[in-house]
Amino acid sequence: SSVLEIKDLQVSVETDQGTIQILHGVDLTITQGEIHAVMGPNGSGKSTLAYTIAGHPKYTVEGGSITLDGEDVLSMSVDERARAGLFLAMQYPVEIPGVTNTNFLRTAKTSVDGKAPAIRGWVADVREAMTNLKMDQSFAERNVNEGFSGGEKKRNEILQLELLKPRFAILDETDSGLDVDALKIVSEGVNRAHANNNLGLLLITHYTRILRYIKPDFVHVFVNGKVAEQGGPELADRLEDEGYDRYLTASA
Ligand code: ADP
Ligand code: MG
Ligand code: MG
Repeated sequence: SSVLEIKDLQVSVETDQGTIQILHGVDLTITQGEIHAVMGPNGSGKSTLAYTIAGHPKYTVEGGSITLDGEDVLSMSVDERARAGLFLAMQYPVEIPGVTNTNFLRTAKTSVDGKAPAIRGWVADVREAMTNLKMDQSFAERNVNEGFSGGEKKRNEILQLELLKPRFAILDETDSGLDVDALKIVSEGVNRAHANNNLGLLLITHYTRILRYIKPDFVHVFVNGKVAEQGGPELADRLEDEGYDRYLTASA
């Protein structure tokens, strides 16, 4: 199995007030097929971790490493990361004016696989994935995320996840802003990708409710830019009861 390994990761961001360090030595190892939940209070650096894995230019790695089967992810371009099997769904999905969803998906699939998908099978795959996610077929011809509601954007990300078949996915607050029905549909899509493609998952969330639908193997509590505690699914239950106060007072 493939392994995504984050070691002693230290990351800073440029702000109007200057450079501030946000990640202070993150260690996290995901083997393909495992589901890891990263949970933590707002501002603890969860999205910073996701953006850094994605290669967002605003975030500077000051130390540590990210490797995929020993290959240095940090020296890869964003495209190379996708071709290596990494998939990133951001907390705020971007709109791409002038590019239809279907063209975007086909271009992304071609880039990730190194060859264009055979047209008939591909069209059927897209249609089936959209049906599974209860997306109207008209979304295929609409521009990527343009005018989509929050929930539609999240579904669209899971559509990409199901069709691109990455080895690892980082989902940043995919649950935020979803009503219960949409949360179920999105979770089922994630679970299908996990079951069918042996997906390894880093599921970033502030709330425990998505973990009722997507069962983590491991839970990492993120506080002040590093992992404060890790455990099994029972740790999520404890967070549900106790919140993050315990960690915050301990670090104050
Ligand atoms: P989380 O996702 O856990 O809520 P973030 O990674 O978004 O946390 O943010 C962590 C901290 O870093 C916050 O204090 C936030 O204000 C700051 N931060 C993150 N990105 C930026 C940025 N691009 N510019 C300024 N501050 C940032
Ligand atoms: Mg599993
Ligand atoms: Mg965030």
